[in-house]
Amino acid sequence: MQKGNIGVTTNDIFPIIKKFLYSDHDIFLRELVSNAVDATQKLKTLASVGEFKGEMGDLTVRVKVDKEAGTITISDHGIGMTQEEIDKYINRIAFSGAEEFLEKYKNDANAIIGHFGLGFYSSFMVSKRVDIITQSFREGSKAVKWSCDGSPEYTFDDVEKAERGTDIVLHVDDENKDFLEENKIKDLLNKYCKFLAVPVACGKVKEWKDGKEVETDKDNVINNTNPAWTRKPADLKDEDYKAFYKELYPFGEDPLFNIHLNVDYPFNLTGILYFPKIKNNFEVQKNKIQLYCNQVFVTDSVEGIVPEFLTLLHGVIDSPDIPLNVSRSYLQSDSNVKKISNHITKKVADRLQEIFNTQRSELESKWDDLKIFIEYGMLTDEKFCERAQKFVLIKNVDGKLFTLEEYKSLISENHKDKDGNVIYLYATNAEEQHQYIQAAKDKGYNVLLMDGQLDVHFISQLEQKSEGKARFSRVDADIIDKLIQKEETKAVSLSNEQQNALTTAFQALLPSTNKMNFIVSFENLGENAQPVFITQNEFMRRMKEMSAAQGGMSFYGEMPDSYNLVVNAAHPLINKIIKAEETSCSSVAPLSQEISSLEAKRKDLRGDKKDADLAEAIKDEIKEIDNKIASAQSTQKAAFEGFAKENKEIKQLVDLALLSNNLLKGEALSSFIKRSMEML
Ligand code: ADP
Repeated sequence: MQKGNIGVTTNDIFPIIKKFLYSDHDIFLRELVSNAVDATQKLKTLASVGEFKGEMGDLTVRVKVDKEAGTITISDHGIGMTQEEIDKYINRIAFSGAEEFLEKYKNDANAIIGHFGLGFYSSFMVSKRVDIITQSFREGSKAVKWSCDGSPEYTFDDVEKAERGTDIVLHVDDENKDFLEENKIKDLLNKYCKFLAVPVACGKVKEWKDGKEVETDKDNVINNTNPAWTRKPADLKDEDYKAFYKELYPFGEDPLFNIHLNVDYPFNLTGILYFPKIKNNFEVQKNKIQLYCNQVFVTDSVEGIVPEFLTLLHGVIDSPDIPLNVSRSYLQSDSNVKKISNHITKKVADRLQEIFNTQRSELESKWDDLKIFIEYGMLTDEKFCERAQKFVLIKNVDGKLFTLEEYKSLISENHKDKDGNVIYLYATNAEEQHQYIQAAKDKGYNVLLMDGQLDVHFISQLEQKSEGKARFSRVDADIIDKLIQKEETKAVSLSNEQQNALTTAFQALLPSTNKMNFIVSFENLGENAQPVFITQNEFMRRMKEMSAAQGGMSFYGEMPDSYNLVVNAAHPLINKIIKAEETSCSSVAPLSQEISSLEAKRKDLRGDKKDADLAEAIKDEIKEIDNKIASAQSTQKAAFEGFAKENKEIKQLVDLALLSNNLLKGEALSSFIKRSMEML
C-alpha cells in the first residue's frame, strides 16, 4: 500500500464541499456518470484512430445500488486509468482562491464544480469513503485501487480487476442513506442522464409474471443515446419530432411547430424547440426548456439564456458554449450568452417566416394557438417585433386571416375618415357585439376580431408603430358614422329645452350604480337608423382593460364603466316621445322661459365681477335668483321623470339598448320581458 496527500492548498476541501454544496447533492451522480461516459467515448475515439486495437465489448455504463453494503457503484468499460493518471487527474487539484470563490457562489453548485473541475470530488457530498478501482486500456498496465475517506489522505493498493475500465465505489454516509434506494437513483438518472451518448443501465427490466412483478436478466437502460436533436434535420420526419416531444413531456399535447437549431459558428449549439399548445394560464407553461451540455442535463431554468418570451417554448438546447460553471447573474451579462440568446430569437423568427412562406394554410389553421406566443414576443422583444411584422396575422370576424400589410391595403381607402385617418375597427366578442359588427358591415367596413389575452396591448403597439397613421376603435366605441366619420355631422333639430327634457327622462330610466354610469347625447342619424344606441368610449375602456390586465388597483381600474346613450333625434319614435312629453308636461313648459329670464337677470347683476367684489345686497339677490332657478329646475325635473316612468316607449327603448349590450340583467330583465308580453 502507498499513501499520499491530495494536492490542495486549502487544508481540507471535503468539509467545504459538504458544507457548500448542500443545496444540490443530486449532481454527484450526474458528474460520475458523465465521467464514465467520457471515458467510454475516449475509448471509442482511440479505437477509431487505431490507438486501441482490442475488443471493445459491452460499453454499457452500470449503476448498482447495494443497500446492505451501503454502496453505490458506477462502472464503465472506458479507458480506465493508470496509477500515474490517477495521480495526475485526481490527486492534484488546482485550488487557489478557493474559500473566497466558494463563499461567493455557495448556492451555485454548478459554478463551483465547473470552476474547480471538481466533478469527481462531488462524490464526497454523499460518501464517507470513495474507492476508484480501475484498469487502464494501455497494454501491460496494472489494475489499481485508490481509496480516500474524505481527508486529504489517500491510499493506493494493488487489486485484481477482470476487465478494462473503472468502478467508482461510493460508501454512502449516514446522512445520505436515502440515495441507497434504487428508485431514487433511477429517478436521478432519468433526470440527468436521459440522453447521454452511451447506454447507462440501472437494475434489470421488470416483467409481470403470474400476477407478480419479477426481474428479467435484461439491463434496464435509462437513456436514449441518439436523441433527435443530435440527428440531422434532413433525417427527421414530423413524426420523429413529435415522438421526441413525447419523450420530453410524456403528458404533453402535440406541439404546433418545431425549430431545429443547428449552429456551429460562432458558437456551438444544437437543440429542438417546440411551440407548445398554450392553455389559458401560460405561467405554468413557462420554463420547460431543458438545457444540456453535450447531452448531459444541466438545468431546466433557462432565464438569462433565452429571451423571456421564449421561455414559453418547450424543448432542448444543448451547447458546450454556454458557460454553465458561472453564476446566473454573470451569465446574463456574458456577451457570448447574449449572442446565443439573440441568435435563438432570430432562428425562431426565421422559422416562423419560413412556415409562413411555405405552409401558410398550416400556420393559419394553428394561428389561434400560436397567436399569444407571437404577440407576447412582439410586445417584449423589439428585435422579434421587427421580424414578426411580415408574418404576424390578424383575423377578422369572419375568420379570415391577413398580414398587417394585406389588411392595410384592404382597408386603407374604405376606412379613411374625412381627415385622412385610417380607422381599424375591431370587436372583442363577436357574439356580444354582433349588432355593432353588423352596423359596420352594412356600411361595407371590415371588422377585426381581437379577442386574445394580449390584444389590448397588441393594439396599442400597432398604433404606436404606425406613428399615428392607424387608429383602432372597437365597434361599439361610437355610432358607426362617427367611428369613421366621412362627412360633417348633421345638426340636431331639437331645441335645448327638448334635449333637456329628454335627457332627464332617459336618465330617470337608466341604471345608475357606482359601477356604471351613462351620458345621454343627441345625434342626427336619419330616420332609418336606430332610435337609441349605447356606446362605450374607446380610451376609457382600454385604460380600464389595461389596468385589469396588469392586476391590482389603479386609478383607471377603479373608475366606473362609462357608457353613452346616443339618442337619434331624427327618428320618428323620438319625435313621438317629444310630442308626448310636451303634452304631458305642458304645465312646466313656461318654467323654461322663467329659468332663462332668471339666468339673464343674474348675468346682468353679476357683470364680470368676482364674488369678492360684489356688494352684499347684490350677493343676496343672486342667491335668491339661484334658489328660484333651482326650484324651477327641480319642478321640471320631477315632471319629466314622472312622465318617463309612465311612458312605456322610453322604458322599452332604454331596455332594448341595454339588452343589446348585455347590460340588462336580473330583475330589470324580468320586468322587461313581462312588459314586452303585455305590449303584444
Ligand atoms: P473533469 O471531468 O471536469 O475533468 P473530474 O474531477 O470529474 O473533472 O475528473 C478528473 C479527471 O479524472 C478526468 O478528466 C479524467 O481524466 C479522469 N477520470 C474521472 N473519472 C474517470 C473514469 N470513470 N474513467 C477514466 N478517467 C476518469
